[in-house]
Amino acid sequence: MFDELSRASGSAHQAELKLASARVRRHTDPQPREVRFATLASSSSGNCSVLVHGSGQNHRLTLIDCGISPRRTRVLLDQLGLDFSRIDDVVLTHLDRDHCYPSWAKALPKHARFRICEGHRNRARRAGLLYRTTEIFRAGEPFELGRGVRVSSELLSHDDLGVASFRFDLPCARHGGRSIGYATDLGRATPGLISLLMGVDVLAIESNYCRDMQVASDRPEFLKSRIMDGSGHLSNDECLDAVHAISPRERVVLLHLSRQCNTPEAASRGHENGLYALTIAPADGPTDLLEIAWAG
Ligand SMILES: [Zn+2]
Repeated sequence: MFDELSRASGSAHQAELKLASARVRRHTDPQPREVRFATLASSSSGNCSVLVHGSGQNHRLTLIDCGISPRRTRVLLDQLGLDFSRIDDVVLTHLDRDHCYPSWAKALPKHARFRICEGHRNRARRAGLLYRTTEIFRAGEPFELGRGVRVSSELLSHDDLGVASFRFDLPCARHGGRSIGYATDLGRATPGLISLLMGVDVLAIESNYCRDMQVASDRPEFLKSRIMDGSGHLSNDECLDAVHAISPRERVVLLHLSRQCNTPEAASRGHENGLYALTIAPADGPTDLLEIAWAG
């Protein structure tokens, strides 16, 4: 009897110990902080991507561009199991409507901040984006997002005010460091862009149009030349050349395919022999969450 009681109280004690150590583990060893990436929308109707830091209750979000409505963004984040209120930063390539939807000026969670390039400051003021929390960055001067994420940028020609391309460098317990490049709405891939993005692990880059389809389209000539004159968008061939020069290590995500002058088949031509996985960002709807880094 005594033995049984002692065994029972012993196993209760064991169970208590286990519970206590689980509690300590939860306290001292939070959920692994995986960093993942997805595009939510990618076309001339709207562009928005997300970097997800952590998972479960602990996740935090960085948006890259916010070219779809806050309501639509909320729905798409929800589809991925992500929470709109956990957006901490919105990093903007430029402020065209398809990259910065007007009602975001009033919809950003209170603690969150826009990250806007110096060259876009005046336009941002007119658009009501210069909050107390807004941070202006200068192209070429790296800034920190927190959680050890460092952002470097390069200003490229696109329409009047230009466009920022980004390289995100992230700490990673498994790989040392990891990096993701993000380049869209480029006039052309300059040597500065190539050196910024050289050897990134994941490269998200626009592959906007098939040249033959563009030339044959019934678009007005001024529009065709605006797109193709070196300060508009990258064609599939220009994108492929840029990818070869950058040599991404693991994956390429093709962004911003024109609905009228491109197809996924045309955009993926030439990438078959690449030593990277290829993802084509849907115009409206999320890609899978792609693992980028593992912070511990
Ligand atoms: Zn665009």
